[in-house]
Amino acid sequence: MASASALDIHVRQVTKAYGAVVVLDRVDLHVQAGEFLTLLGPSGSGKTTLLMMLAGFTRPDSGSILFGTQEVIRLAPQKRDVGMVFQNYALFPHMNVAANIAFPLRLRKTGAAEIARRVEAALDMVQLAGYGARGIDELSGGQRQRVALARALVFEPRIILMDEPLSALDKQLRELMQLELRRLHEKLGTTTIYVTHDQREALTMSDRIAVINKGRIAQLDTPRHIYSKPNSRFVAEFIGESTFLNVAVTGGVCRYRDTVIKAGGAPVRDGRCLLMIRPEQVRIVDGAARDGMNCFDGRIVGRVFQGDTMRIEVDLGGGDAITLRVPANSVGLQSLPDGSDSITLGLTVADTTLLPDER
Ligand code: ADP
Ligand code: MG
Repeated sequence: MASASALDIHVRQVTKAYGAVVVLDRVDLHVQAGEFLTLLGPSGSGKTTLLMMLAGFTRPDSGSILFGTQEVIRLAPQKRDVGMVFQNYALFPHMNVAANIAFPLRLRKTGAAEIARRVEAALDMVQLAGYGARGIDELSGGQRQRVALARALVFEPRIILMDEPLSALDKQLRELMQLELRRLHEKLGTTTIYVTHDQREALTMSDRIAVINKGRIAQLDTPRHIYSKPNSRFVAEFIGESTFLNVAVTGGVCRYRDTVIKAGGAPVRDGRCLLMIRPEQVRIVDGAARDGMNCFDGRIVGRVFQGDTMRIEVDLGGGDAITLRVPANSVGLQSLPDGSDSITLGLTVADTTLLPDER
């Protein structure tokens, strides 16, 4: 739920180049008030640059950024009412925890009693009550991350920006903090933009995900839609696992080799297309149950035990392969032939997704 003071953000046609390198290319983005939106993309795609523009540390070459109805391009960072958590935390090593958290309040000339009260509340919020007098070098990575978060929250900003705040933490702590940050967001209702290159993190935390590629937003949608209905091979490969088969569409009919493929979703234009196949959507079909399925015959050429699932590679001949996952328990494996036996795989029409072939 959005808090009363949460702001929406309009990024319009924002462009930034360093020399001949265009880092952001006419980016349009609308973030709703109180939303948790994640910028997800590979290293070098422009995520940090976009965040720095929202924070006010980098100015775009052209375009507009509105917080609510206010144009902020010429506004200094401390006047934007934005809390920022940097990738490396950027804590002041010579100040203790309380002084670090108090810093933005001192910048704003808050009174001493009010500072003390707010710092206590911020420490509470990130579950570090009693840590105010500690030195930064006495804290673990996870605790430093919480101090950085408390410092970003302490002045009750209307917008919170976070640049890969969990990337230095080990997996277990990272997953714990993902849920904690999400809980905190729900409590505060502040408009939040979160940067990560970790697709699972983005899926776990976000209301919506903006997938960014080479300075452009490739797709903006809910985690569920981004995963199930990617609009391009780039998005499909970046989020989740998938294999692709080349198919041809003529007269509105899609064929893989000579077999007609029925696809869910919007019709695609005639020409070459890609059939996207998610490993967990593939079913193992026995001869009788082909009805209503798109079927592919092949041979098992590899199987890898991965704990909860078994990853199976099926060769369709002619250089094509499909990867599937079955639960690594007896139920999942019962239906699986031994050795390099032939196998028929099926995909329901609803799970059959066609993508434009960009290359
Ligand atoms: P990301 O955060 O997605 O990894 P960045 O926004 O940091 O990407 O960088 C995007 C591109 O812009 C990279 O190619 C990077 O080298 C370049 N870049 C970023 N900042 C500068 C700068 N100050 N000067 C020159 N190039 C820069
Ligand atoms: Mg970055």
